[in-house]
Amino acid sequence: MRRLSDRYIAGSELDDAIAVVRELNAAGKLATLDVLGEEVASTEEALAIRAEYEEAMAAIEREGLDANVSVKLTGLGLAVDPELCGESVRALVGAAAQNGRFVRIDMEDSSTTTATLDLYRELRSEGHDNVGIVLQAMLRRTLDDVLDLVALQPNVRVCKGIYVEPADVAYQGDEAIRFAFVETMAALWEGGAKVAVATHDEWLVAEALRLIEERGLGPERYEFQMLLGVREELADELVREGHTLRVYVPYGRKWYEYSLRRLQENPKVAGYVARDTLRRLRP
Ligand SMILES: Cc1cc2nc3c(=O)[nH]c(=O)nc-3n(C[C@H](O)[C@H](O)[C@H](O)COP(=O)(O)OP(=O)(O)OC[C@H]3O[C@@H](n4cnc5c(N)ncnc54)[C@H](O)[C@@H]3O)c2cc1C
Repeated sequence: MRRLSDRYIAGSELDDAIAVVRELNAAGKLATLDVLGEEVASTEEALAIRAEYEEAMAAIEREGLDANVSVKLTGLGLAVDPELCGESVRALVGAAAQNGRFVRIDMEDSSTTTATLDLYRELRSEGHDNVGIVLQAMLRRTLDDVLDLVALQPNVRVCKGIYVEPADVAYQGDEAIRFAFVETMAALWEGGAKVAVATHDEWLVAEALRLIEERGLGPERYEFQMLLGVREELADELVREGHTLRVYVPYGRKWYEYSLRRLQENPKVAGYVARDTLRRLRP
């Protein structure tokens, strides 16, 4: 598992992640740090993850890195104490604002979507503008969420969605999800939002580039995002072409649980890792 995870996880310590971000920055790529840990079962664990994020944000400043953080609400205790979770996100977003930094709230499975968007709206209504969310193209509700949110001129990461969801909640076919991804990006740009296009799907990257060119969007309206260790040649190509590219850098002591869970939960991920490993072994 360690060997499989090595490519996709920066390491178990903050120093490992900082070293990876330094390399990415030197290659013209930005980063977002993710402290591994989700669905914690106690307030102590939730507070420990918050403290790790505080350390990560301090290290980003100390090292002068071009990076921000991505947080998961269930890691900050959404299921055990939603109020504490909201307080922690508020504190992290407030601390980030003092240094002109940004915090992204990742999107988890569909049982958490409403709570996540509600907290985002709350933070924005309190005047926190340095916070963004994620919308999953696979969810049937996403275009409605875009319509609800677009007046806030949100900063939205659009991704396909990694969680296995039932058919009444999410589109199931690859083509339907791709189509919904394009619709979601287009609707967000139409409404004035900033979009972080989070995909390694070459077809979707090409569609995003087409929409960006058609609309004449500047760099303040979009960036591309990819996961650490995935499709690096595609990421390099985007950087060479002058686009902003941010790499999602997971790290932490929970790397084993995280890796195992992703492989067990979504058979597609296991297939990707197997194919990727074989491709690498081939001369
Ligand atoms: C920066 C970033 C942030 C994300 N944040 C969230 C989030 O908050 N919530 C959420 O539900 N999902 C998130 N995701 C995951 C996303 O929803 C998809 O599950 C994932 O990106 C795979 O979809 P794809 O668009 O890359 O297309 P796919 O067609 O699934 O993948 C295209 C190709 O990329 C490669 N690939 C893709 N994923 C992997 C992988 N895990 N390991 C190895 N190779 C891979 C494969 O070669 C594959 O053929 C995020 C993804 C990125 C890039």
